[in-house]
Amino acid sequence: MSAWEGSAHQEAAEREAREKARERETLPRLPEVVTLEAAERKVLAGRVSWDRYFADLAEAVSKRGTCDRKKVGAVLVVGKRIVATGYNGALAGLPHCDEVGHDLVDTLGPDGVARPNCVRTVHAEANAVAQAARAGVALEGATAYVNTYPCWPCFRLLVSAGIARVVYTDAYRPDERVQASAKRLGIAIERLA
Ligand SMILES: [Zn+2]
Ligand SMILES: [Zn+2]
Repeated sequence: MSAWEGSAHQEAAEREAREKARERETLPRLPEVVTLEAAERKVLAGRVSWDRYFADLAEAVSKRGTCDRKKVGAVLVVGKRIVATGYNGALAGLPHCDEVGHDLVDTLGPDGVARPNCVRTVHAEANAVAQAARAGVALEGATAYVNTYPCWPCFRLLVSAGIARVVYTDAYRPDERVQASAKRLGIAIERLA
């Protein structure tokens, strides 16, 4: 190949590369197509933790609550298995707050101040423990996921039932008695922010 032929060959190759580049630039841009499979892959790439998974479920359970002063949901987990759920509501078969109104009684809060408290409902944690009892499921070493900081009576019940860890999301009226007892008993009580 002569020098002239070589240079012509190179020029032709460069022209071809330029045309290809222009072609790429002028190609219509396709919208990003999100198939279900791709969407699922995206979710899996940012998978939620087990704690977040059960805490989100506790939040979903709370939506069944029948006292709108505070809707609470609890999910009891042994290992990575949900063994019981509960939300705050009147005894099954009796009218609910959303049907007959609240049953308000002045009750001393954790801060020592008396406030009207609705006593019609069985609390979410208590209902979950009762559900486990009815099904004959042991709660030894279980974790309780609650969307609200447990009240003192519920905390005592959870501990008596064998719960080893409490995970909550909303620090609603945290009770010092719960905190102090959890520390003494070696029970983890953790907020999932
Ligand atoms: Zn109520
Ligand atoms: Zn409670």
